[in-house]
Order: sequence, then C-alpha cells, then structure tokens
Amino acid sequence: MDSEAFRRHAHELVDWMADYIESIEERPVKARVAPGEIAGKLPESGPEAGEGMEAILADFRGIILPGMTHWQHPMFMAYFPANSSYPSLLAEMLTATLGAQCMSWETSPAAAELEGRVMNWLRDWLGLPAEFEGVIQDTASTATLCALLSARERVTDFGINERGFSGQRFAVYCSTEAHSSIEKDVRIAGFGSASLRKIPVDDEFAMQPRELAARIEADRAEGVTPLCVIAALGTTSSTAIDPIDAIGEVCRAQDVWLHVDAAYAGTALLLPECRWMLGSARDVDSLVVNPHKWMATNFDCTAYFVRDPEMLVHTFDIQPEYLKTRVDDRVRNYRDWGIQLGRRFRALKLWFVMRSFGREGIQAMLRRHIEHGQWLAAAIDEHAAFERLAPAPLNCVCFRWLPPGAEDEATIERSNRGLLAKIQDSAELYLTHTRLGGRYALRIVPGQTRVEHRHVEAAWRLVRETAAALED
Ligand SMILES: *Cc1c(COP(=O)(O)O)cnc(C)c1O
Repeated sequence: MDSEAFRRHAHELVDWMADYIESIEERPVKARVAPGEIAGKLPESGPEAGEGMEAILADFRGIILPGMTHWQHPMFMAYFPANSSYPSLLAEMLTATLGAQCMSWETSPAAAELEGRVMNWLRDWLGLPAEFEGVIQDTASTATLCALLSARERVTDFGINERGFSGQRFAVYCSTEAHSSIEKDVRIAGFGSASLRKIPVDDEFAMQPRELAARIEADRAEGVTPLCVIAALGTTSSTAIDPIDAIGEVCRAQDVWLHVDAAYAGTALLLPECRWMLGSARDVDSLVVNPHKWMATNFDCTAYFVRDPEMLVHTFDIQPEYLKTRVDDRVRNYRDWGIQLGRRFRALKLWFVMRSFGREGIQAMLRRHIEHGQWLAAAIDEHAAFERLAPAPLNCVCFRWLPPGAEDEATIERSNRGLLAKIQDSAELYLTHTRLGGRYALRIVPGQTRVEHRHVEAAWRLVRETAAALED
C-alpha cells in the first residue's frame, strides 16, 4: 500500500469510525453468533498473494462486525465497562502511527517523560499521597502480580530473585469476594493457590479486618510468612469496599504489604464525595486502577501506583549490555517498572483524555453514571417482584427477580437464569450475573461513556417486561 492509498482508506475509515459510534444503537449490543460460526467463514490458511484493501474491509464489515459484541453501546451494562472516547481514539491512532517501542527513556524520551507527568496528574486527581509514583501497565492482573513480586522480594531481601524458593512458606490474603486474577497471580508468583487465604466478608461483602488479623497471626504461629494483603476497593461482583484503613492497621502491625485492587471503582476517587473509599491511605504500599474501565480511555491502560518505586525497580531491573545507555543514571526506564520489556506508548491517550475532558469532565461523567446506578437501585427497591442483593455505592446494582409463587432458592435461581438468557438473547441489553452469599444475582452496570437516563429506563423496562412475559 502506498501513502496515497493509505490516505484514502484512512479518511474513509475515520468517517466509518464516527458513523459507527453515532449509529451504534442500531446494532445488537451482544453478538448473535454460535461458537465456530465466524471461524467457519475464514479461510483455513493465509493468502499467498496480497489482497486489496477493499476486499479486506468488506470482510471486516461482513464477517468480523457481526461477530462483535459492542462494548461502546450504551446498552452494554455487563461486567464492568471498558469505556472509550474520541480523544482516546485519536491518540491511539497516533500511537500506532509513531509505532514507538517505549522500553527506555532513550528509545522515546517524550513517552517516558509524559508517562511520569500524567501518572502524577492522575495520582493527584485520585487523592493518593504525594510520595506515590505511577507506571502504566497493560492490565490490573499484571499490576497485582508486580505487587506480589515486590512484596516477595521485600520480605526475602531479594533472595528469591537471586536463589529461587527454598522451602519458605508464604501466605497472601484477600477476601472471599476478591477478583480471580489474584489467585492467578499467586500461582504465577510461585506461591501456589494453597497459600491464598480468602478472608470472610461481612453482610455488605467487605473484608473483615478482625478475621484478617486472626488469620495472619495463626499463619505466623505455624511458621508461614504473611506476605501481602490485597484489599478490594470495589469488588467485581458488587463493588464492595473493603475497609482500607482498618486493614492497613493490621498490615502495619504485622509488617505486611498492602496492595489495593481498585481496578474499576478506583476511578471514582476523582470525586471528593467518594474519597472515603480509600480512607487515609496511610498504610497502602501499592494501588492499581484501570483508566481503561471507567475513565474514557480505550483498552488497555492500567495505572499502577507504588509508595516506594525503588522497591519496584529493584525487583525487576536487569542491565544487559545491549540495553545500557549513557543516561541511565538520570532518567526513568520504565522497562524496569514492570514485567514486559517492550512497551506501547499508552501515556499519550491518557494525556489526550485528561486534557480534553479535564478533571471536571471526567467527574461529570462519573456522577452521571453513579446517578444512573442510584436510580436503578431505588427502582428495584420499590418493586415488590425484585430484590436487591448488595449495597450499591456506585453504579453497579446486584438484584434478582422474585417470581410469584417461587419460594425455594433453586426455583428462584432457575427463574433468574431464564430471565438473563432471555434478555441476552434479545440483544437489546447486555447484563451478566454473579453469585452473592450463595445467591444467583443479576448485575447491571450503566457505565458506558454515552449512556443516558433514557437507556437506563429502557433497561429497567426490558427487565420488568421480560420477567412479566416469563410469568405467563
Ligand atoms: C476488572 C478487574 C480486575 C482485572 O482487570 P484486568 O485489567 O482485566 O486484569 C481485577 N480486579 C478487579 C476488582 C476488577 O474489577
């Protein structure tokens, strides 16, 4: 492809991109395809001779798009959002065009220095203590793994990095509601799932600090080294907020690393009225938040903040001859701030978003979304045939349908499974489910960049009407 053709296709594509976002509500929010259906339309092997862009784009429209679930659709209220925005898309185009590999300062000085700046901006917007420093990573899963590895090296004085494991037993703590990525990270870090202690939660699904303290003491008594506590600032099931200050006191008394998993709800710390969620942050060693979930920044963009960057860098830095540069003692080489060597220029899109929205713009979006959540929670509470199953501090509402006559848990669960399947098959609204205190729960999260009150009303109407139709 020459630059003339690139120019022509790029202009067409930008028009297509704007049309796509503008008319996204005309599409089914969830892909309506069976497993294998898309693969069946794709050739078994790649083409020998190059093909024209017209043919490729035609197949993008004809084969790929029908198999996509539209995450930017305002009726996407499943999981957590991965919301995006025009400024973010513009920056992503530039990142792809520059094609820079931002592993060290020297390989792209502006990328490194911009990353330092935007992480400081974000740290201040979130109300984190001024000594925290941040780095952009791909996902919260990776950031939490970094926290575990740093905690491991702090406790062993970098011994495991040097000599590997030698029989010492470690324990990692989180609540029974913690995200599955934590167990995955515990496995990857070499501790084994058996070393993960799932601490009981209270009736609001938040970790109980007293149970945590008891478990840590019991472990110590048995010769196990307590390594790291991972507190959730917004669990995935119901955005339950673990009591960070009370957990922090336990961690301080026991000299255990405190990592806060604020992957989704952390963005709400931009709102003064939500700062209570973090408490004083006095004992927090590290925190992860995903601008790629709720901050209008397209996937992927995870912000990992640490109180002691030296500890992080020491855990990861290795200086082979071919990576040394003349400025290493004066600059930040982000390859030493995480797992991957090669790094995308992700700071650019966050910078575009933060400047284009401003703090006030992001705050306004978050407040709108939280209002949507509060409106839904109130509507569910007022309806006799529905029951809320968890507090809704933000915009994630967990509830279930109580069909008339259904009394036992098994029947209620079956009815709710049926209701969810019907809603998902309608492709007008995308919801998902979870389990809370053993109960099957439907989960609704209006957090799309362009979601409006009319969408939330339509979603609630669809839930009620679908349930009513199932009654007949
Ligand atoms: C989404 C989520 C994660 C995982 O995030 P990734 O960036 O996809 O790894 C971890 N913890 C919580 C609480 C989450 O909501």
